[in-house]
Amino acid sequence: MSDVFESREVRLASRPSGEPSDANFAFASTKIGPPGAGQVVVRNELISVDPYMRGRMNAARSYAKPYDVGKAMWGGAIGTVVASESANLPVGTKVLHGLGWREYALLDAQDARRIDTSKVPAEMYLGALGMPGFTAWIGLRVIAEVKPGETLFVSGAAGAVGSTVVQLAKMWGLRVIGSAGSSEKVRFVRELGADDAFNYHDGPVKDLLAKAAPDGIDVFYDNVGGEHLDAALGATKDYARIVLCGAISVYNAASLPSGPGNIRLAIPRRLRIQGFIIFDHAEREAEFIADMLPLVRSGKVKARTTIIEGLESAPRALMDILQSDSHLGKMLVRL
Ligand code: NDP
Repeated sequence: MSDVFESREVRLASRPSGEPSDANFAFASTKIGPPGAGQVVVRNELISVDPYMRGRMNAARSYAKPYDVGKAMWGGAIGTVVASESANLPVGTKVLHGLGWREYALLDAQDARRIDTSKVPAEMYLGALGMPGFTAWIGLRVIAEVKPGETLFVSGAAGAVGSTVVQLAKMWGLRVIGSAGSSEKVRFVRELGADDAFNYHDGPVKDLLAKAAPDGIDVFYDNVGGEHLDAALGATKDYARIVLCGAISVYNAASLPSGPGNIRLAIPRRLRIQGFIIFDHAEREAEFIADMLPLVRSGKVKARTTIIEGLESAPRALMDILQSDSHLGKMLVRL
């Protein structure tokens, strides 16, 4: 069998201004392989679609390099090694790696991680057991330093990160309130164990939150920004912590709205407001996996996924997750 593979890939055709459209993506075919010494070729089976990818479509300086116009995009993926020049990853090994958005990936073996899918479905390694789950765990444990008995509010509570936040925070003894963008999602957030949940389209977030947390909140885990952040600032107790994980409500904004008007409350209430980037916390990943694997395996942490079919659907999947009231749980594309 030849070790050269014809591979379709999705490229960034142009940088979007505001909401991305089909015109910002292009499909192309290229030859992948053969692998050189220490390399493998992986046939991708599942690719991850994540909100941070929208940021990489911009040219602006950020924590991660932007995608290059005219070149393939990348991101988390799971696949099987189909050609190998590495003793550590022989043909047939299932791996997790960072070259998604294409059918075949050529990688140094050290950039791919072997995964065990005998007891946990492969998709978990892109969701609750992968980057989104790790983000939830670090945000709660390291950034917010949550304590039993505290009240936590999480926005984007039906998404990949938010749904894990809800479940871990409940398990660790907090009172949990979640917001999401549809009644189906609110039901899901309650099923995950949230003490209260609301659809943020049902009224001003400030009012909905005041009803759910009349005594205020100790922790706000923010995936959304904008009105949610403003409302949560207003609901904080003294010494509350605000975890700035994401601000998806403004990722497609062509110009940024002005900041929360009530940020001044941080002073009298002695708030701690901290952003974080999960890639800075690699040293805790083994601890996270040891903690999370039994929870996912036993079903104590439930992970919903929305899986859509075909590489040609990937741009639409990314456009969808940037909209309110879209998919439930972790969005993946199966190739
Ligand atoms: P998901 O793709 O699972 O969820 C995205 C959800 O965001 C959508 O389903 C939608 O749900 C909601 N949403 C979209 N637009 C809006 C809007 N305008 N207002 C309110 N909600 C909106 O995302 P993840 O769980 O993977 O990521 C959640 C957040 O965490 C993102 O902001 C992401 O960038 C961030 N993140 C940060 C990391 C870090 O290192 N700091 C690492 C990983 C993720 P609904 O229908 O409920 O509105």
